[in-house]
Amino acid sequence: MSMEENIARIRREMAEAARAAGRDPGEIVLCAATKMQGADAVRRAIAAGVDCCGENRVQELTEKLSRDAYRGVPVHFIGHLQTNKVRQVVGKVDLIQSVDSLRLLEAIDREAGRQGICQKVLLEVNIGREASKSGFLPEEIPEVLEKAGEYPHISVRGLMAIPPISSGKGSNRKFFCQMMQFYVDITGKKYDNVQGECLSMGMSDDYADAIACGSTMIRVGTAIFGKRNSLQ
Ligand SMILES: *Cc1c(COP(=O)(O)O)cnc(C)c1O
Repeated sequence: MSMEENIARIRREMAEAARAAGRDPGEIVLCAATKMQGADAVRRAIAAGVDCCGENRVQELTEKLSRDAYRGVPVHFIGHLQTNKVRQVVGKVDLIQSVDSLRLLEAIDREAGRQGICQKVLLEVNIGREASKSGFLPEEIPEVLEKAGEYPHISVRGLMAIPPISSGKGSNRKFFCQMMQFYVDITGKKYDNVQGECLSMGMSDDYADAIACGSTMIRVGTAIFGKRNSLQ
């Protein structure tokens, strides 16, 4: 199937999953995970109607930005970001989805301040409590949200999660539903510099489950572009 057909199919399935959950399909964002895709493939995906693009390597982001690959849609950073690379990302992307430490949050604030901007971010939650994954543990998040009030150049827009690799249909539902519960809990409270508007979860194998549980943004790579050549 072509990329255009893939995107059309994903849209249909997104809409079905939303309606089945009594949700408005229009409130769910399709973010194309464009790692390892060249600028031309990115442009094609945008032309075929993805809402935004997500990159997870600084070097790829920089290169594709220099080729104006994302024209027409916002670009997000979705990978692990080292503090010594924030300068190459802050102000270049609409949203940094993958803030996984207080040190990083602070570094982003400092760089955004230097640029005189406010950087939108999501906090990454290690919902499966996996040693191999970065992200905050759920119980750490309230403290981070408190702390966000001290950073005037940051706006926390919600949460992002990458649950354990799906071990079969529906296997990640419990994590998605925990995330939703957690998201509802924290957005019910008032924190400075925090606006709950985005719950980013669900990838190629499990986006329908994520939407059923309340995801407002799915990040999809393989189901759009096909299998990548090497693991990332
Ligand atoms: C690659 C990637 C995705 C998309 O994964 P697929 O399984 O290819 O859909 C989503 N989120 C992040 C953070 C990624 O790095």
